[in-house]
Amino acid sequence: MIRLDKYLADMGIGTRSAVKQMIRKGQVQVNQETAARPELKIDEQNDKVQVNGQMIGYAAFEYYMLHKPAGVVSATEDKRDKTVIDLIESRKRKDLFPVGRLDKDTEGLLLITNDGALAHQLLAPKKHVDKVYYAKVHGWVTEDTVSQFAKGLNIGTDDAEEWTRPAKLVIVQAGDDSEIRLTIQEGKFHQVKRMFQAVGMEVTYLKRESMGSLVLDETLKPGEYRELTTEELENL
Ligand code: URA
Repeated sequence: MIRLDKYLADMGIGTRSAVKQMIRKGQVQVNQETAARPELKIDEQNDKVQVNGQMIGYAAFEYYMLHKPAGVVSATEDKRDKTVIDLIESRKRKDLFPVGRLDKDTEGLLLITNDGALAHQLLAPKKHVDKVYYAKVHGWVTEDTVSQFAKGLNIGTDDAEEWTRPAKLVIVQAGDDSEIRLTIQEGKFHQVKRMFQAVGMEVTYLKRESMGSLVLDETLKPGEYRELTTEELENL
């Protein structure tokens, strides 16, 4: 049970004071009757809430799959740059956040939600959730590179070593510029870029393709998003 004004504010109808005003003006109906008080307790599952006759269902959690484009930051707010949250125009909840971070110039799969428990499950290092990246790399990736990645790399400095766990590197195309697919279970700062730096190569394009069971929907263009399907959510 939650208060009517919180119910409406949570669903993005307006600020707490704006929705109180709407209630006082008689614009809100609960179970077909005009609601008079913002404190009215609502059963989110069973009560019918309407604003000017339009049904407003309650969602405690929202889950969106975003194809993050380059040029936006993985943050909830930013003074200069557009954030991934700004891209979710249909969002209702104000407490959405990205599950993990992709660099500003990285594209690909980003889960946006307000479900903190799920985010923890996906991000906690102990859970070993696979993250798959596709990258273009300046440099010739060889079987030797593959075994270096499989052993683990020092992406720190000589003074402060920072070792990565074994990672699966697959060569998609080798050449002066190579294409690869890399599976890692960690999420260290700039990890993929620093792993290639450690072997003297530079990542020139990076895209995340999946995270655990969640795979980027290829019908989504960069900047587009959709809600997760029930099946995707259940599998996570
Ligand atoms: N590794 C990186 O270097 N950048 C990302 O955005 C994600 C993983």
